[in-house]
Amino acid sequence: MCNQIAILTHCTAGDEIICAANSHIINTEGAGAAALAGAAVRPIASPDGIFSGSDVEALIRPPVRSAPRTRMVSVEQTCNFGGGRIWPLNKLEEVARTAHHNRLVAHMDGARLLNAVVASGISARQQTSQAGFDSAWLDFSKGLGAPVGAVLCGSRDFIEAAWRWKYRLGGGMRQAGIIAAAGLYALDHHVERLAEDHRRAKALASGLASLHAGLLDPARVETNIVTIDTTALGIEAAVIAGACAQRGLRLSVIGPYTARAVAHLDISDEDIAKAITIFGEALHATDNAPRSVRY
Ligand SMILES: *Cc1c(COP(=O)(O)O)cnc(C)c1O
Repeated sequence: MCNQIAILTHCTAGDEIICAANSHIINTEGAGAAALAGAAVRPIASPDGIFSGSDVEALIRPPVRSAPRTRMVSVEQTCNFGGGRIWPLNKLEEVARTAHHNRLVAHMDGARLLNAVVASGISARQQTSQAGFDSAWLDFSKGLGAPVGAVLCGSRDFIEAAWRWKYRLGGGMRQAGIIAAAGLYALDHHVERLAEDHRRAKALASGLASLHAGLLDPARVETNIVTIDTTALGIEAAVIAGACAQRGLRLSVIGPYTARAVAHLDISDEDIAKAITIFGEALHATDNAPRSVRY
């Protein structure tokens, strides 16, 4: 809803939004930009969801009457379907600068921003308002561990307009206090500990790579997300995930040959060791299994 409120606040019908092809906005919000704001998206192909100022510049429409109006650029820190990789600060600054230079607004889907903060040591303020972003939000669920909730930030005027969109979308809550309490608890107690999730994700990645080097490159695991590529096994991710699930390990299947594991505050070191063992057993069990499944 924070992304949708930001889009509705920044854009009008017919505007265009530049963002990564694998972004949450494009893939997992029911085409809300189109359905709610009437805005189109212009995707940038980038496996890790990170792009440059010149990537943005190349997609900005010329000021001709027949063209859509490019209005907004959105970055995802960290990119969920890009493997949780961290946007470097200079890239964030460059994209925001390019946006402003071309009279666009810069938005950050910072659902996992605090993972990037803890992993990089660069503060949320430096990565958002100081880097030039006009709006940004972070999620209290995900790694922070609250059951629900998120917070959207921006200028006073932006937030004033955002409030009205939140009500229009049915997001006004008289009950928000009890939810906010969990969010405040998460901010007080669960930020520094994100480093443990990152360490555990690394351990999981190394363990999986030692089972089969083609599964992933542990060096690419920068936060709490581990993306597993089953192409080298010649087996679809759903087959492996099914074999793991039977043994008590749940993986998300996010592509035909791509599975995803996420470390979070309910996952211990023992769980990671167990996950590696189970994955190894699943690999053996699928040796003679069908290579693919019907979805
Ligand atoms: C999870 C996620 C969202 C959506 O957040 P919810 O709390 O599930 O509504 C949006 N963007 C990114 C990058 C996410 O990872």
